[in-house]
Amino acid sequence: MMGMDLFFGPSVERGPRKQRIYLTFDDGPNEWATDAILETLERERVPASFFMVGDHVRRYPQLARRVAGAGHLVGNHTHNHVKLHFASRQRLRHQLEVAHTAIGWATGQRPRAFRAPHGYRSPYLRAAARELAYTVFGWTFGVFDTAKPGVEEIRRRVRKRLRPGAIVLLHDGDGYDPEGDRMQTANALPGIIQDARSAGYEFGSLSELLGNHF
Ligand SMILES: [Zn+2]
Repeated sequence: MMGMDLFFGPSVERGPRKQRIYLTFDDGPNEWATDAILETLERERVPASFFMVGDHVRRYPQLARRVAGAGHLVGNHTHNHVKLHFASRQRLRHQLEVAHTAIGWATGQRPRAFRAPHGYRSPYLRAAARELAYTVFGWTFGVFDTAKPGVEEIRRRVRKRLRPGAIVLLHDGDGYDPEGDRMQTANALPGIIQDARSAGYEFGSLSELLGNHF
């Protein structure tokens, strides 16, 4: 399902309404949380999508490579987690292109997805995303895991809001602090997966939703 906005351009905010959900992690890679999340995803055989900050990718290229190598989608989340609605056209393009290059360098794969920091899109984004052949993603719901409400609370919030096709926004990093602590989210993940499976959901990758959304 797409949110259509003539000014800012379309973004994908929900998948098909099947018993399938899409886990997404923003603001990494992060030395501790990304690693822990990858282990859980591997153990549970769950695909996920990671929208990475280019500056963090340059700092932890081996983590970005590990995420991509495990088959998860790696998307662009700007180079410095810039709020795009205040950015000039030039600054926006620079933010996308520098992160694009960093992700390609670290993973050996060309990123095909973009998510705007804080969801703040801009009229300039549409053209830049088209040129880089990106599909722009939003999310169906987040659970404010960055406020660190506790492992069980993060799990409970996800369980409460699950619905068919949901793109779930979680965080494996801090957009501004490469050493930010996201271990609550990492530690909530096994329970989140268990709850979703108990409710009859399976897990999809946003790579299934890539396409010509322009
Ligand atoms: Zn972010």
